[in-house]
Amino acid sequence: MNKPKLDHIGIAVKSLDAGTAIYRALGLEIEHSETVETQKVRTAFLSVGDSNLELLEPTSPDSPIAKFIEKRGEGIHHICLRVDDIEAHLARLKSEGYRLINEAPVPGAHGCRVAFLHPAAGNGVLIELSEKHD
Ligand code: ZN
Repeated sequence: MNKPKLDHIGIAVKSLDAGTAIYRALGLEIEHSETVETQKVRTAFLSVGDSNLELLEPTSPDSPIAKFIEKRGEGIHHICLRVDDIEAHLARLKSEGYRLINEAPVPGAHGCRVAFLHPAAGNGVLIELSEKHD
């Protein structure tokens, strides 16, 4: 099993246009944009070296991202680690007593399979695991 890699940092914004402006001003480009229905968000990916910034704009008031912004304002929402075998990681974390939000992978952006761990498991950091689907 390879070590996890930092895939992206998720940032909650009210508007992708306004939210990506600072990064575009720094010379980064939006390379991919898509709506993820399961999370009720529109996402924009800007690559930074081997990792990405994923900006997340809610598409509905009951989106988890809308709720996050309501409670804590715009800002860093989660980090995502890319793993090889997401099921094996989830099973191991569960057996070690870590709290999971998704006990099984769900569809994420880029056709990846993703799962979120509970922020309590990450000492306040929401950690997303993602397995690339090639
Ligand atoms: Zn993400």
